[in-house]
Amino acid sequence: MATKLLLTFAICRLIVTVGLTLDPTELLLLGVDAQLSVDPTDVKAASLDFGLLIGAQPPLAVMHPASSQDVAQLVKAAYGSNFGFTVSARGHGHSINGQAQTANGVVVQMSGSKGGSGMASGRKPPHPRVWPQERFVDVWGGELWIDVLRSTLQHGLAPKSWTDYLYLSVGGTLSNAGISGQAFNHGPQISNVHELDVVTGKGELLTCSEEQNSEMFHAVLGGLGQFGIITRARISLEPAPQRVRWIRVLYSNFSIFTSDQEYLISLHEQPASQKFDYVEGFVIVDEGLINNWRSSFFSPHNPVKISSLDPNGGVLYCLEIAKNYHESTASTVDQEVESLLKKLNFIPASVFTTDLPYVDFLDRVHKAELKLRSKGLWEVPHPWLNLFVPKSKIADFDKGVFKGILGNKTSGPILIYPMNKNKWDHRSSAVTPDEDVFYLVALLRSALDNGEETHSLEYLTNQNRQILRFCDEAGITVKQYLPHYTTHQQWVDHFGNKWDRFYRLKMEFDPRHILASGQQIFTPTNMASWR
Ligand code: FAD
Repeated sequence: MATKLLLTFAICRLIVTVGLTLDPTELLLLGVDAQLSVDPTDVKAASLDFGLLIGAQPPLAVMHPASSQDVAQLVKAAYGSNFGFTVSARGHGHSINGQAQTANGVVVQMSGSKGGSGMASGRKPPHPRVWPQERFVDVWGGELWIDVLRSTLQHGLAPKSWTDYLYLSVGGTLSNAGISGQAFNHGPQISNVHELDVVTGKGELLTCSEEQNSEMFHAVLGGLGQFGIITRARISLEPAPQRVRWIRVLYSNFSIFTSDQEYLISLHEQPASQKFDYVEGFVIVDEGLINNWRSSFFSPHNPVKISSLDPNGGVLYCLEIAKNYHESTASTVDQEVESLLKKLNFIPASVFTTDLPYVDFLDRVHKAELKLRSKGLWEVPHPWLNLFVPKSKIADFDKGVFKGILGNKTSGPILIYPMNKNKWDHRSSAVTPDEDVFYLVALLRSALDNGEETHSLEYLTNQNRQILRFCDEAGITVKQYLPHYTTHQQWVDHFGNKWDRFYRLKMEFDPRHILASGQQIFTPTNMASWR
């Protein structure tokens, strides 16, 4: 061990002496026990993300860790080196703006390590371990949620809170929040974690929970990777439902649509039989979408012709709700759904229903992914904009954005659904508007190079700026979800009254700003200013 550290220091001193940046081949000599790779395939994969918005940021090397200790050893070397280099955990690289990248350091490829090309030693991260009696599961930080689900289902259990798409890593979503239509009821994924193992920016491995290292625990949840690398998460489970009744209904009046959504999420304390398990919704501003969105639904009682609705301003709203059930309770599900639907004010006869296994419901976006991939439409730039909008301003947002700025063109789905703030732990690092109810508005666009101006990356990026400017000028105090800012002041404003604590804990747990530099919140400290 001592020899390895000496070697590390020797290399770093040499690099500083000759004024070079760290050389990839020299990185391989750092002596970290795990698998560091400079294989061009690994480096290229780690230099890009789902957003494809910024140019490739090739790291110096990629690590495929097999354990928390591997990660700790690397971060310790980075922290202790005279020159210093950055370390960014990468889950599945589904960020939009390079948040998991680092150009001058090492990417720790947390997901996919089980079969990654760096697995020369045959060592692999641990598999999920389910504790059926206690109803939780311990998972590796890079585990994909789809694999968490598969493991827990073997015990008839499942996590309670989800994202719409399951090919995301546990560490990646817990660094943001992890939200979907269950959040109104169970809170975001960060509200459903019992314990974490985290490697701090000093290379220390800490276990944290409500009771132990609690400040670290809350800081890491929603902490954008700033305080440590999550290597293990203990996630709360419930008995897994077997099937899902999945329903969509339409509205042409925004205020009726949001009243119904808000009514449904207000039922969160009611018994399971008297509420839906999932509440989301989306906006249909685009004629193309009107014809496509319901392909997987049927409605035996549905005489409505969507094209004949001709909504004012061309905008329709779709409420999407789901009820989970077990085959043993199948006989009551119709009745429960019926009595909930009776309380809603959607366009009569616009009920589209489907019934499917629970896993297929949770994994629904993967189907869309396969379709888009087959058409070459997945690996394109994604100028996404995700906003939390306070309930009091959602009507202004509708007028100004859905019926205004978008101009009947969206280039992708627009999700809209409300959540209850009391299901979010205010001690976490996640930032939400200061109202009891707030909406997620997610503009999930894909830019295409097909000659149509409104599909171009430049057009969509400008439109995102226009939306943010509009909110600012109209006094709509939105908070970005999966935030992306480029100036210090913007980050301070984003965190608001959480900033002082965020900054203090950063100085405590990652004083050299080694971790997750791709978020662009803190600038890595180089040797000159450190020693
Ligand atoms: P990455 O992009 O790899 O990393 C994201 C950030 O987390 C980086 O800063 C990285 O350094 C850090 N990080 C990664 N792993 C760790 C770790 N183990 N410890 C500490 N920090 C870490 N989000 C939702 O909430 N709900 C949704 O329904 C939803 N749907 C999505 C659908 C698609 C198709 C896509 C592309 C994204 C979606 N997201 C959704 C966003 C998603 O939650 C974020 O992209 C998130 O970052 C997870 O992606 P990832 O695991 O690939 O993380």
